[in-house]
Amino acid sequence: MKLLIKNGRLVDPASGSDRLMDILVENGKIKEIARAIKKTAGVPVIDAGEMVVAPGFIDMHVHLREPGQENKESIASGVRAAVHGGFTSVACMANTEPVNDNRSVTESIIARARQVGLANVFPVAAVTRGQLGENLVEMADLVEGGAVAFSDDGHCVMKADVIRKALEYARMLDVPIIEHPEDHSISAEGQVNEGFISYKYGLRGILKAAEEVIVARDLILQERIRSRLHLTHISTSGSVELIRNARRLKTPVSSDATPHHLLLNEELVQNYDPVYKVKPPLRTEADRLELIRGLQDGTIDCIASDHAPHTRDDKDKEFEYAPFGVIGMESSFAVIHDRLVRTRLLTINRLVELFATNPAIVLGLKDRGRLKPGLPADLTILDLKRRFKIEEGDFRSKANNCPFLGWEGQGAVAYTIVSGNMAYSYKEKI
Ligand SMILES: [Zn+2]
Repeated sequence: MKLLIKNGRLVDPASGSDRLMDILVENGKIKEIARAIKKTAGVPVIDAGEMVVAPGFIDMHVHLREPGQENKESIASGVRAAVHGGFTSVACMANTEPVNDNRSVTESIIARARQVGLANVFPVAAVTRGQLGENLVEMADLVEGGAVAFSDDGHCVMKADVIRKALEYARMLDVPIIEHPEDHSISAEGQVNEGFISYKYGLRGILKAAEEVIVARDLILQERIRSRLHLTHISTSGSVELIRNARRLKTPVSSDATPHHLLLNEELVQNYDPVYKVKPPLRTEADRLELIRGLQDGTIDCIASDHAPHTRDDKDKEFEYAPFGVIGMESSFAVIHDRLVRTRLLTINRLVELFATNPAIVLGLKDRGRLKPGLPADLTILDLKRRFKIEEGDFRSKANNCPFLGWEGQGAVAYTIVSGNMAYSYKEKI
């Protein structure tokens, strides 16, 4: 099993590479990277001329809904959506039914993902049993079972003493804790960002402080514990500032932001369209611009979709009764490239860092996020000139709650290659 990728612009920030290169893949691994590798009879060739060849993208925050809510999404439909969006790997959150808080659930997710093939699925286990915020899971056992990180995502770990202990165990096990920063006593029944817009449209607000007090608390604990803390879906300028200061003080912390918080703001809720109901809520334009500055100056390390599929019946309710969340794996690259790279707010190299290099580092996936002979041949090949339009009919996800429907622009995923196999090609019909 061989594959030759010719004439691509190889962008691999981990090795500092940005030049025309050929890549030879053999038995699922990268065999050789060189300027001109000769074609051999019988070896299929991908002509990547005018295209960018990057290490396989990793979406470190997705909800695949299996086990328990396969009507919303499943591991099979979720990985098809992932590879369609250019992701060779995803890390799936633990708020399934049952919660992924024990080794048997983790192992069943891994087994199911292997059966499906197509993309790598890395389970994130819960921090606390049942995600109830009280008792820590058997972290060591879960790591042995294949969990790559721990998160009560969907919920915040509200008790400071519990997150403190979790961070201490995580340090011993050398795994990350992914915090969903939200003080539930502040956010309570809130629906949208609290401020002018929430007052004007009569919707209950969520203060920015709901996020920032947890960011501050975790950073204070982390200053002493020095574990691997990752703050997910950061949404406010205050959070960016807190993380920036912590980094200045050399407190170990990493973070991500979502495409919807980077490209949309709270004004969209004025039509009461539930597709814009997300947690944390869409914030102000000033917050959005500060998140972009955070990407530019290295304060924010990763872009993650927080892909949260819901059925139409669930999501098409009145704003107040609709669930939180949007899908994103199939639109993330296209919208971020078109609105942040083509506008020169980010370079394509920085985009690859945010989508591949850094998520691999945060999750401790040592074989991913970079290109080197001997490593698995996970590659995302991008045609930066091809036009795209985000259309519901193209989704592989079971859900359609995407806030970027109808968006058009330039730059699309051409091929997604996972362990040397063509998991997605733009020539493919649905
Ligand atoms: Zn969350």
